[in-house]
Order: sequence, then structure tokens, then C-alpha cells
Amino acid sequence: MKTIGIIGGMSPESTVLYYQIINRETNRRLGGNRSAKILLDSVDFEEIVRLQKSGDWAAAGDVLAQSARKLEAAGADFLLLATNTMHKVAPAIEQAAGIPLLHVVDATAAAIKRQGLSAVGLLGTRFTMSDGFYTERMGSQGVKTITPTAAEQGEIHRIIFDELCKNKILSESTRYFCDVISRLKQAGAAGIILGCTEICLIVNEENSPLPVFDSTKIHALAAVDEALAG
Ligand code: GLU
Repeated sequence: MKTIGIIGGMSPESTVLYYQIINRETNRRLGGNRSAKILLDSVDFEEIVRLQKSGDWAAAGDVLAQSARKLEAAGADFLLLATNTMHKVAPAIEQAAGIPLLHVVDATAAAIKRQGLSAVGLLGTRFTMSDGFYTERMGSQGVKTITPTAAEQGEIHRIIFDELCKNKILSESTRYFCDVISRLKQAGAAGIILGCTEICLIVNEENSPLPVFDSTKIHALAAVDEALAG
């Protein structure tokens, strides 16, 4: 079994989900008391949020590259960056580390294509929805993304950072997300990407107007595939 190196803490509320999904799935597949081999480096999220706000992505990339090197030195076989947004600096991490990074967009695009869908809605932070690093990589793999309006993106972004990342779960925010998903459905989306690792705290298969592609679950399960491969 390979050792998974998780760069986490962005936010801690979703890192705990990665830990749980990976271990439960490993046990489901292997039985007994088997669990995953995981190294976790959890950053101080405030430091990352400040760098995002000031637009200093190079410095944020340095922080995460340092984390990647730490995990590699400790014995990780591959890396999992437990956030969609910070994949904006995936190239800096990949350059710094001598072990592979399992990219969240690649895992999510593969899951969407397995269902035969080509156009899906995308929910995430404003960075994820409006910056090309996510949508272009999806597009290059044959997945067209439909994004919310600028005003909707602002409100979704606010809910993620002010509520979900602090484990504040409000029913009006669930309703807001579902209304946006309904609108994206009218705009032609056949599924919805939960492209932020905390959105699954309030949106799921039961309440979503569209089939859900939960990046947290998809990414964590892809890590189990990789850890148990070969
Ligand atoms: N966890 C979030 C994501 O998946 C947002 C927090 C962050 O900015 O890293 O994008």
C-alpha cells in the first residue's frame, strides 16, 4: 500500500472528510482492521486566506510547495491537495516535489465522463469559478462547465468562507445553493460539480436538483485507487 501525503487544513472542516472517506473506503475494500497509510501536513488556513485576498499566489504556492517537500521527506508516495482552489498553484507544488500530485480536476473530469455527461455546472470559490485554471483543465478533458453569474459567485464565495469553512451550517444557504443549481440546470447543465471541498456539507444527492459530482469524495476515492494500485 502506498502512503498518501495530504496537504490539508484548507479548511480543516473538509480535511477531516478526506481522512474519513479514505480510511472507510480502504477498510471497505481490504476488510479486517485495514486502514490507509496517511501523512497529513495541515497548514494554518488564515495564512492561505490572507495570501488569496492579497493575490499573492506565488507566496501561497511557496507555502504549499514547502508542505509537499515535508511530506515527501517523511515518506509520502504521492500527494493529495485537499482543496480545489489551491490547485491554482498546483504547478508550483509539482515543480517542488519529486512525487506525483493527484489533481482534483483530473479525478473529477474522469468521474463526469464515466457518467457520459459533457456539460455540467460548477460551484466553488470565486477563484475556482472565474479563473481559468479549473475550467480550462476541465475543458481540455472534454468537460464543458457552466458557471453562476458574478453576483451568485460572490454570494457562494461568501458562504464558503464565512460559513462552511467554520462549520456554520444554515438552511437558507442550502436553499441558496439549490436555487443556483436549478438555474444552472435551466442553462443546460446535466450535473453539478461541488468544486469546493466544503460544499458537500450542505449539498448532496438528496437535496440537489442535479446529479452531484462531489470533488471531496471523488478526489478521496481516487487517492484510495492510487494507494492500492499495483
Ligand atoms: N476548500 C475550498 C476549495 O475546495 C476552499 C478553501 C480554499 O480556498 O482553499 O476550494
